[in-house]
Amino acid sequence: MSSANSAKRAHKPFALVDCDNFYVSCERVFAPKLRNRPVVVLSNNDGCIISRSAEAKALDIKMGAPLHHITALIKSANVAVCSSNYALYGDMSERVKQTLKQFSPEIEMYSIDEAFLRLPANPELTLCASDIHQRVLRWTGIPVSIGIGETKTLAKVASRIAKTSPSRVCNAFEQTSLEQTSLERIDRDKLLAETPVTKIWGIGKRHGTWLKAQGITTALQLRDINDEQIRRRAGVLGLRTVWELRGRSCLPLTMTIPTRKGVTCSRSFGRRTRNREQLREALATYAARVGEKIRRDGSAAGALTVFLMTNRFSNEPQYSKSALLTINPPSDDEKTLIQLALAGFERIYNANYRYQKAGVTLTDLTPINEVQTDLFPPSQTSRAPEKRETNTTQNAAEHSKSLSHILDSLNTTHGAGTIRYAATGIDKPWRMRSNYRSPCYTTHWSDLPLIPTLY
Ligand SMILES: [Mg+2]
Repeated sequence: MSSANSAKRAHKPFALVDCDNFYVSCERVFAPKLRNRPVVVLSNNDGCIISRSAEAKALDIKMGAPLHHITALIKSANVAVCSSNYALYGDMSERVKQTLKQFSPEIEMYSIDEAFLRLPANPELTLCASDIHQRVLRWTGIPVSIGIGETKTLAKVASRIAKTSPSRVCNAFEQTSLEQTSLERIDRDKLLAETPVTKIWGIGKRHGTWLKAQGITTALQLRDINDEQIRRRAGVLGLRTVWELRGRSCLPLTMTIPTRKGVTCSRSFGRRTRNREQLREALATYAARVGEKIRRDGSAAGALTVFLMTNRFSNEPQYSKSALLTINPPSDDEKTLIQLALAGFERIYNANYRYQKAGVTLTDLTPINEVQTDLFPPSQTSRAPEKRETNTTQNAAEHSKSLSHILDSLNTTHGAGTIRYAATGIDKPWRMRSNYRSPCYTTHWSDLPLIPTLY
């Protein structure tokens, strides 16, 4: 398909910036001893491998492999093991984003370690991408790979090739209007011919099998497929992918964060437990955590769900139950959320089982400034001398609300958990395993890296 006509219009290229082995890279920024050796990062509760350095991939350590399956290899190959540290990764992701904003205000954080950028039309595109690579590395310590194309799908295809290129940049942008020098971009047909069809964004295994049966195994063959044939099989979404491969942009940049439907905090326990106090502490902690999240978003919740479950992989008797409580009027107040979570717990707790996991979910989220206040709050329905009493109750509610915000700002300034409700526990023996966790170098004052004194 010729793109000569559309090329007359100046078209801004899409770039996909992808952090290399992101969690491992974050760990390496502050721990030079992790460089040039195999490193893996584990999922919550130190379960499975979720990020691998290039050296670990070379050892054939698979993504998702359970840690206990590869203990021998870890020992013999001297692999460094890290528990996941999401406070660190989230903060590093934010730093990468802030750096990328220097290059374009049009940015979509697609995931914690990937961002789409709309770059200004620029004849020196490859140079610009190298500049992005250099600056992100210098300012944050995180290495990135960058793919460029007319569409998001093409940028994604290019970024896959960029990962194996020494410059970490792959420029597949072809539009002639930019008069790029032919040296600096790669032959797009060749790029598409080298990309297996299953590696294309949005194709996946399901359509991949069918395409293979049609004799289509590369991105190039898919690009040249008959429109009707793909639409019949894969619908409009499939057709959109094909058009994107041809350089026709169908997926715009999504710059607004979609409003969340719900927020959950749930964790596995380090050890199974039936201990009532421990379970209450865990649920109070999770309720505090989801409260913090919705306050950051400026939302209030209209419903709270608590759940408890046993370990479904064990031979012990199984139990799993949840309770839904409405919050009226919707609230973001920490004390209210903790009290409701504990009330829900009392409804579902059964002392005959040992629990592996628990969680709290908030739903029916609305912006806090749109919350309808209750016309007849419970305190106002009581008889005289209402006036004073009502004021006192309302003031108490207001105080509690502003207290939540004060807690948030103290915890932001001085580190998570500096001030918290006693209900959330102190020693937290139920906490999930994270035996190899690195310090929160960038979000906790007490975890700041120290330079050893020489004298
Ligand atoms: Mg990545």
